[in-house]
Amino acid sequence: MSQQVEEKQETKKASQENFNVFERTQQIFLTALQKLGYGEDVYELLKEPVRLLTVRIPVKMDDGSTKIFTGYRAQHNDAVGPTKGGIRFHPDVTEEEVKALSMWMSIKCGISDLPYGGGKGGIQCDPRSMSFGELERLSRGYVRAISQIVGPTKDIPAPDVFTNSQIMAWMMDEYSHIREFDSPGFITGKPLVLGGSAGRESSTAQGVTICIREAAKVAGINLEGAKVIIQGFGNAGSFLAKFMHDSGAKIVGISDAYGALYDAEGLDIDYLLDNRDSFGTVTTLFSTTISNKELLVQECDILVPAAIENQITEENAADIKAKIVVEAANGPTTLNATEILTDRGVLLVPDVLASSGGVIVSYFEWVQNNQGYYWTEEEVQAKLEKLLKASFHNVHCTSVEKKVDMRLSAYIVGIRRMAEAVKWRGWV
Ligand code: NAD
Repeated sequence: MSQQVEEKQETKKASQENFNVFERTQQIFLTALQKLGYGEDVYELLKEPVRLLTVRIPVKMDDGSTKIFTGYRAQHNDAVGPTKGGIRFHPDVTEEEVKALSMWMSIKCGISDLPYGGGKGGIQCDPRSMSFGELERLSRGYVRAISQIVGPTKDIPAPDVFTNSQIMAWMMDEYSHIREFDSPGFITGKPLVLGGSAGRESSTAQGVTICIREAAKVAGINLEGAKVIIQGFGNAGSFLAKFMHDSGAKIVGISDAYGALYDAEGLDIDYLLDNRDSFGTVTTLFSTTISNKELLVQECDILVPAAIENQITEENAADIKAKIVVEAANGPTTLNATEILTDRGVLLVPDVLASSGGVIVSYFEWVQNNQGYYWTEEEVQAKLEKLLKASFHNVHCTSVEKKVDMRLSAYIVGIRRMAEAVKWRGWV
């Protein structure tokens, strides 16, 4: 059995043993709302997206055939403002996943007081096996299919797994054609020349770096020489590896969808960055690799899951050696595993906080598009640092005060404003 197939089966097993991501999200929404003293009525409204659109997108393939792709756009709740969240291109995209991801976006926006509710989109496809032209036709077809429910004051998409600034550019161009005026504020994560923000591409990793720094202070870990493992070497993982390496930490492990590399003495990060492909693949260049599963339990101080969901589960949580786990990926740790790690004294910085740098700078991009005045990278970074540091300490203090783990604390902080907004609007 190939390593990749082995990992796929492990992931499937882990997700079957635990709740699916959507049920997991509903459970924590319920607990957070109860802790805030809200009744069943607020939970009934917020327990799933107010809007979910399923679309079928016909795409002319290069061989002359037509292939029909299934896509989704979920809008969790727009009581606070327009919805916002990325678009994922992946073969495993499901309706349940997109719904859960839109709810997580609400929490991310709420934690940092961004004037948005959460949204998310996805298309079932494998962009690694598609040509540039096929990807462009799929991206434009998706925008045509969802154009009625999105827009700069309705729902603002962004990149996510296997989508990038080129795809955002095609989507913005298609939307502008439909509306018959230039609409840079329709989507974020665009190239700089089309109204992208300085610092957007590396913003998720910048945010994770800020959270690692603050978490290390809380846990009393010196980052100079600290051993770091990063699962995933795509947009989030590779920039993070660079930032941590540049700040003196030792990157001892990295991985991609095909396997993992581990060296207790530290990996040659510059070589890996220079040789990774645009899908974040690099381990295929090496003959000696370990599996992603093995990587997670190797010796380190800081573990950063930056790939996919359900990687730290009841099965391996007790074997994790890290003192800090910082979730760059969405949903890499199950609720049971969160409990096991917290009981063991591991400081877990949850996804909704750790990976919020992307949506924060996306918000900055949208603000700049709306005002037509652009900031320097230094200005963007300073604003991100100020906002995220405050958010980290707000979540950490709430966790200490309410004696709850960091994940529940993040949900309590993140859902509060939306719950208040639906009450003020008289929706419940
Ligand atoms: P990406 O597509 O750029 O990279 C994904 C990486 O994960 C690649 O290295 C890929 O090989 C690896 N991967 C894919 N399947 C895997 C598997 N089964 N096992 C191990 N590795 C696997 O994606 P990204 O933008 O870096 O996103 C990674 C995670 O971070 C996702 O959970 C995403 O939702 C989250 N995130 C990303 C952003 C962002 O701005 N990029 C923002 C917030 C959250």
